[in-house]
Amino acid sequence: MTQSPLDRARLYQDELAAIRQDIHAHPELGLQEHRTSDLVARKLEEWGIEVHRNVGQTGVVGVLRNGNGQASVGLRADMDALPILEATGLPYASQTPGLMHACGHDGHTTMLLGAAKYLAETRNFNGTVNFIFQPAEEGLGGALEMLKDGLFARFPCDAVFGLHNYPGLPIGRFATSPGARFAGGAFFDITITGKGSHGARPQEGIDPVIVACHLGTALQSIVSRNISAQDTAVLSITRIQSGDAYNVIPQHAVLAGTVRTMKSEVMATIEQNMKRLAASIATGFGAEAIVDFRILFAPTVNDEQQALAYADAAASVAGEENLRRDAPPAMASEDFGFMMQAVPGAHVLLGNGGSAAVHNHQYDFNDEAIPYGVALYAAITEKKLPKPTLD
Ligand SMILES: [Zn+2]
Ligand SMILES: [Zn+2]
Repeated sequence: MTQSPLDRARLYQDELAAIRQDIHAHPELGLQEHRTSDLVARKLEEWGIEVHRNVGQTGVVGVLRNGNGQASVGLRADMDALPILEATGLPYASQTPGLMHACGHDGHTTMLLGAAKYLAETRNFNGTVNFIFQPAEEGLGGALEMLKDGLFARFPCDAVFGLHNYPGLPIGRFATSPGARFAGGAFFDITITGKGSHGARPQEGIDPVIVACHLGTALQSIVSRNISAQDTAVLSITRIQSGDAYNVIPQHAVLAGTVRTMKSEVMATIEQNMKRLAASIATGFGAEAIVDFRILFAPTVNDEQQALAYADAAASVAGEENLRRDAPPAMASEDFGFMMQAVPGAHVLLGNGGSAAVHNHQYDFNDEAIPYGVALYAAITEKKLPKPTLD
């Protein structure tokens, strides 16, 4: 009987857990993953995989070919850490105060390395596997950096597959669904310029504070009045800044916040309406408003067919009873959405057991989850790039 991907992945456990803890002890911020990407490149080279460094600044791509198949897949993991002071007290805790692997990207990187080792050793596939180690997932644009650097032109992929660990989901379980998985996200700053004056003589100035108050209220009509009730959207104003004194009408006021949507076209509608309201309300009061609207994340949308294949691969690893195929989407965001806009793909959540939530200073990736991630990446590759059957 042939060895299952999970059984084989378990044989790598000591080696992979050591790599994971080494990466954990040496966290690096987005686009500064020099040590991490060097470690990744060296491991891939050690296992005989063709390595391309500096794809999208600190990104790394490994290429492994087998047989004569023309089909290809991309397997993706992220490498960056967060600016958080670690409070786990673990022996392998961050050695860089103020930086921490609090989102488990140390685990994601390790699992993709494990899959690379597995596939390089077993070669039970026909075609090309591209191992995509992306920098800067945490809002610093790592996926876009790789795309701008020609990721899919240089390393063509028929489909791409990613995953993220999920605290609260038991180890050995997976969750996914076809369609929207994570929201797209934008940040905005609206700068209102009036005319400063004495607080006791408002008729001599143009008050940007009163414009900000009207605009703040008006912006809350966008989701309720301009967006279909069938669509999901959040618009939050999280910062209002203006003025320094009791008796001075300031020159400027700034409104800032975030928008989340499940569809790119809904994001575009919100941006358009925000700009119209800001300009017209400011003009109505004799002031001026400039909107800086920055889309940081595309919605992460699973392709129906690829999601089904990925779910079947997860079921083959962990059993159908340990897979949720109808997991609800979340309003959080994933940089992987940009890659899945370029190439059809799918994203799966992997159980991280009872750890603290991601982005918490007590969080730690659970090493017991490593074999499941390795086996999932291996299983989807063997499923998408099957070897010709011998008669
Ligand atoms: Zn994160
Ligand atoms: Zn993350």
